[in-house]
Amino acid sequence: MPVSTHEELDNRCPVPTPSSDDAFAEVKAKVDLVKVVQEHVRLTKRNKDFWGLCPFHQEDSPSFKVNPQMQSWYCFGCERSGDVFTFVELIEKTDKRGALQLLAERAGVELKKLSPEQKERSDSRRRLLAMLKLAAQFYEYVLWSSPAGEKGRRLLESRMVSEETARRFQLGYAPAGRGFAEYLRAKKKSLQDAHDAGLMRSDGTDFFAERLVIPIRDERGQPLAFTARTVRPDEQRKYINSRETAAYIKGRVIFGLDLARDEITKQGHAVLMEGQFDVITAHHHGVTNAVASSGTALTDDQVRLLKRFTDELLLVFDADRAGRAAAFKAIELASGHQIRTRVATVTAPAKDPDEFLRAAGAQAAEKWEELAAAAPSGWEFWIKDSLTGLNPGNPNQLELAASRAREVLEKIPDAAVRDTYRERAAGWIGVQPHLLTAQASPSPAKRERVGERGGTESNGKGGLAARLTGKKLTVGRYLLQLLAVRPVAFERVRTKLTPDELDEEDRGIYVRMLETYERGGVSGLETELAGYPPEEQDLIRRAWAAPPPSVDDEVAVELAERIRLDHMKGLQSGIIRELSEAESGKDSERVARLEAKARELARAINELERRG
Ligand SMILES: [Zn+2]
Repeated sequence: MPVSTHEELDNRCPVPTPSSDDAFAEVKAKVDLVKVVQEHVRLTKRNKDFWGLCPFHQEDSPSFKVNPQMQSWYCFGCERSGDVFTFVELIEKTDKRGALQLLAERAGVELKKLSPEQKERSDSRRRLLAMLKLAAQFYEYVLWSSPAGEKGRRLLESRMVSEETARRFQLGYAPAGRGFAEYLRAKKKSLQDAHDAGLMRSDGTDFFAERLVIPIRDERGQPLAFTARTVRPDEQRKYINSRETAAYIKGRVIFGLDLARDEITKQGHAVLMEGQFDVITAHHHGVTNAVASSGTALTDDQVRLLKRFTDELLLVFDADRAGRAAAFKAIELASGHQIRTRVATVTAPAKDPDEFLRAAGAQAAEKWEELAAAAPSGWEFWIKDSLTGLNPGNPNQLELAASRAREVLEKIPDAAVRDTYRERAAGWIGVQPHLLTAQASPSPAKRERVGERGGTESNGKGGLAARLTGKKLTVGRYLLQLLAVRPVAFERVRTKLTPDELDEEDRGIYVRMLETYERGGVSGLETELAGYPPEEQDLIRRAWAAPPPSVDDEVAVELAERIRLDHMKGLQSGIIRELSEAESGKDSERVARLEAKARELARAINELERRG
């Protein structure tokens, strides 16, 4: 039973008293840390340990290690560590007692010593869930087996949703009047619970009366709430939703995930739609990896939930302004969790996926394939959308286009990804990529100060990676070019960087230039250049002819620190690799030594990153 379901997540809800240490020990003995972690992190076994991407800090290569023997975990990146309780505490954003509660439920350990008040809250949540389940069954029964359900059945027919699909989603119909209350009375169930679950008004009438009800279920299929569509043409409010309760926090549910999860894993991506009905129609037409963010803009919690199943989202939002805005938000959120996005746009006259698929009828699957295949990546979609209506051939609009593209580019968290899109965007607009860097603005005054190449002044932090356009110019090369143009920057750089921190190919020329500078000062290079190896002469001459984007001391220092950081990260992954070897060889002394080294490096890296 996965730990991160809404009812369990809710830390306003039952919290056991810190009971005795026995409870912790008993729970710990019954749960497997690896399994708990695996619900949040994809782990790969290396020797006897498991490795994955740390869920607590951003990284591209795994430095998060789980030791199954010790039932402990450690991250070499952010240096967090602990046991199964600390892991659950951090990942579920709860406290120690909350973690105990979640894990105890999972392990089937009954926690004694709940205060009466806590026990009451725990029970009431359980009752709420049972009531929601019962309501879903009741509504489903009414829809298919009672004359009152006729209106609901007709609505489904008009939407071309088959009974089979409707049953998969457990759709139902809430009759007018007090139908559910009477049913509960007959079954001797509490009306108060139904009221607490938001199913009933205080006069006993059904909250969802005369509506087709759609259960919102968690990823295990437990109903947590309902959304309901009216069947009355005169009703102003088309949809009404359950309010949030102890069982339901809407920003944490992904609609359809219980039905789509296997297909999502199989296909490697989830299709994220806006509306519940879009999802139902999609499943009906065989797009069974479709889900929806359930009545809200996508939230961080929802992305985290999806991340457990996939690294890619195909976003299908309505073709209007609000739909586009929702897509942009989803692109940004997802990329913050290292989830790739693509954006499929339904083609007119359809306004949403539901209309699109219904209009396609028998060809729905085929048309869907086409739509999905044509979907550009999220960032491409966003950048191109920002350029809509602008003509880069017109100088005034060119500047506007560049600034709009820059705005989107700056939202891309990963530097390498950002560089790639910068190059592509430059191509779409028809400008040099460095004009799309963070602080770039094509003002002529600045251009003169830097030289003939239209680079710009830097004001320090943030824009460094941005200024490295594409992979051709490495950080090391950038620094060397900058030093060739501005040797006085050696004064600051030499204290920040030792030659062995540079890549091998940059080391020789760096040392030679430094020596030249020490001997001959700022003009030394011109005098001594003839004595340099030809390829080094070439690099320096080219830098003189076409200076790199930003030439100043601050940038030089930034570059030096970046090189040092990259160097340390390289060392760190080497040590982590060595470590897993040492562990498999059971060389405990070497393991301890390497672990100490890794920790020391992690500290230094954190320190540098904090400053940067
Ligand atoms: Zn970490």
